Amino acid sequence: MKVHTTPRFQLVFCDANDGLFPAGYLETSFYPLDLKSSPYDLLAQAISAHQEQNVPSSEQQTSTQKDSLLQESVQHGSLSQTPAQLSLLKSVVLLKQIHSMQGLCVTNDNLISLTTAPRHEGDFLCTSLPGIGIGVLTADCLPMAFYDPVNHAAAIVHAGWRGMLDGIGAQTLQSMRDSFGTRPEDLQVFIGPCAKQCCYQVGEDFLQHLKSFSWVDKVIERRENGLFFNLPLCNSLLLQDAGVRSTSISYTYNECTICNFSFCSYRRDAAASCRQLALIVLR
Ligand SMILES: [Zn+2]
Repeated sequence: MKVHTTPRFQLVFCDANDGLFPAGYLETSFYPLDLKSSPYDLLAQAISAHQEQNVPSSEQQTSTQKDSLLQESVQHGSLSQTPAQLSLLKSVVLLKQIHSMQGLCVTNDNLISLTTAPRHEGDFLCTSLPGIGIGVLTADCLPMAFYDPVNHAAAIVHAGWRGMLDGIGAQTLQSMRDSFGTRPEDLQVFIGPCAKQCCYQVGEDFLQHLKSFSWVDKVIERRENGLFFNLPLCNSLLLQDAGVRSTSISYTYNECTICNFSFCSYRRDAAASCRQLALIVLR
């Protein structure tokens, strides 16, 4: 589990080793608003425990200096150690993910129904409510978190290659614009673990899905044994086409789920694969 804490939000990228029973998340069709007695109290406990063990060392701070967005957040975050670092979670909202372009914003009006009724279908969530974790579950698909520091709003997105090419990133941004007035130039993006170009092999027929994009050569690498797709870069280029600044996209948590065995991978483990949770919660 990686927990990224700032004075304004907390970002959590889980992995297969967290023991948080991700299969339980998939099977749970509804869950109580109160975290106690739900699978999510384990998550809140794990986040708190993780943070107590992980006060940033000078070595870690040095390694993050390449990532200006993260460095800025870490520096701000270091101002608020101790009590503020405890988990902010009061509740968690997940969706029944269907590789679609739809999603919704969590508000005071729909919070109860979203946390007590069977999960709504969709692939992104946004909110400006503090304490309400919004999450997606992935194996090799790309999870990404958006934060709008001007309007203090967040989103979480589940982007497989198809949803990504259909523009789910831009769609989520539009939803944040409609609900909160978010401008793309203000958006901060954190890309989580996904299948990366080292391992993500595709067939020749995959190229037809990319033919409308001018930058196709940047996202496909041809090696002796086939074609390999750069999912995170493709996603970033699409976000930049939507107006997001390249310097506002962080790859610090973007590890490869296929060759790093600490992550769940559908391509590696097929039906036996688990799912990992990516979550953002506002203060
Ligand atoms: Zn890999």
